[in-house]
Amino acid sequence: AFNANVAAAQSALNAFIVTTPEKALDAARATDARRAAGQPLGKMGGVPIGMKDLFATRGVQTTAASHILEGFTPEYESTVSQKLWDAGAGMLGKLNLDQFAMGSSNETSYFGNVISPWRRKDGGNAPLAPGGSSGGSSSAVSARLCPAATGTDTGGSIRQPAAFTGISGIKPTYGRCSRWGIVAFASSLDQAGPMARDVRDCAIMLEAMAGFDSKDATSLDMPVPDWEAALSGDLRGKKVGIPREYRMDGMDADVAASWDQGIAWLRDAGADVVDVSLPHTKYALPAYYIIAPAEASSNLARYDGVRYGLRDLPEGANLQDMYAATRAAGFGAEVKRRILIGTYVLSAGFYDAYYTQAQKVRTLIAQDFKNAFTLCDVILAPTAPTAAFGLGEMVSDPLAMYLNDVFAVPASLAGLPAMSVPAGLNREGLPLGLQIVGKAFDEQGVLNAGLAIE
Ligand code: GLN
Repeated sequence: AFNANVAAAQSALNAFIVTTPEKALDAARATDARRAAGQPLGKMGGVPIGMKDLFATRGVQTTAASHILEGFTPEYESTVSQKLWDAGAGMLGKLNLDQFAMGSSNETSYFGNVISPWRRKDGGNAPLAPGGSSGGSSSAVSARLCPAATGTDTGGSIRQPAAFTGISGIKPTYGRCSRWGIVAFASSLDQAGPMARDVRDCAIMLEAMAGFDSKDATSLDMPVPDWEAALSGDLRGKKVGIPREYRMDGMDADVAASWDQGIAWLRDAGADVVDVSLPHTKYALPAYYIIAPAEASSNLARYDGVRYGLRDLPEGANLQDMYAATRAAGFGAEVKRRILIGTYVLSAGFYDAYYTQAQKVRTLIAQDFKNAFTLCDVILAPTAPTAAFGLGEMVSDPLAMYLNDVFAVPASLAGLPAMSVPAGLNREGLPLGLQIVGKAFDEQGVLNAGLAIE
């Protein structure tokens, strides 16, 4: 049934880059066999999921939604996807995304934008962005094409698309999920996580995805808790911090109302609500848009026409010409913009003014959170400053697009677990998300607060 729905919805949503119906069926059959033999089914036994096309999958094209990787079929499997298959899950297909996970609307994909299944109440059929970069994941889960999907989050790419489409998604503490086999964007920020219909499903899937991996030098060597077993929406004795700097001038009235509603729900669940300050918040976005492109410019240097995917070798060309031609043809405009910014901020003469400065700001932001967490257990804020915007509305204005990440990037820079859960609709009938940020390693506290809201 899921395979049929995926095929039927493809022209309307463009959520998948390739589909793998046999793989989903294989997992279902294997689960049936295990059930018949009285064997344990696994945490994800038989569950058909979507895989963001940033995860390397053995024998299945892996593109990062870029022309430069078109036709690249890895000989290896990412650690996270392997863990999901080991837990019994099956793959419906590879999900569309912003090219190299750079974007907030899924409009930078080489394979065309994804369309959200949502529409404005009085908006006719005007298509909306599913958020990004995990827009294929958010659209597919929201449209019920799959019960859950993987996402990755460098500066909000799990949380913002989850918020735009009325689903849940958690970015765990940096290091919880192995980055091995995930196409690298900004290695000090990239984290995988689940996107699903509710908090419980996220807890189950995250447990299957997380765990130490010696192949990732920044992998956390810590046991993976049974988050599902300890789920509880009872927040008595817990303190929820409300960061005053997030209440920005001119904040969207519906977003502010949903935030107030979330505060009331957490109070009802027994939590005490306290005011906290994250004084360096306003520097987070500029710091992120220096650090992430800097790391991207280094990571993307490997796409040279020699080792992966596309090769553009003009008649009589030398090696330099091949690099240039391959990159000119293979990378999209947003990816080129990031490589240029990244190369600039790392160049001699500008390094200290931009890159070093941004790294210092990053430390201050992490310290802000540490200070706040002496007063509270979790922090509650909106996930994004607006509900979903229309396709084409923002794409010509990169700065406006970057501003949509304003509430998401601080937790990324600090490496903290952060989740978006649905929190009502705005007056146009579109979903709004609330974000819960926790202390490092306290996914449980984040999930529990999420459960109290959903
Ligand atoms: N929208 C942000 C960016 O474009 C975040 C992307 C992400 O988390 N992968 O960089």
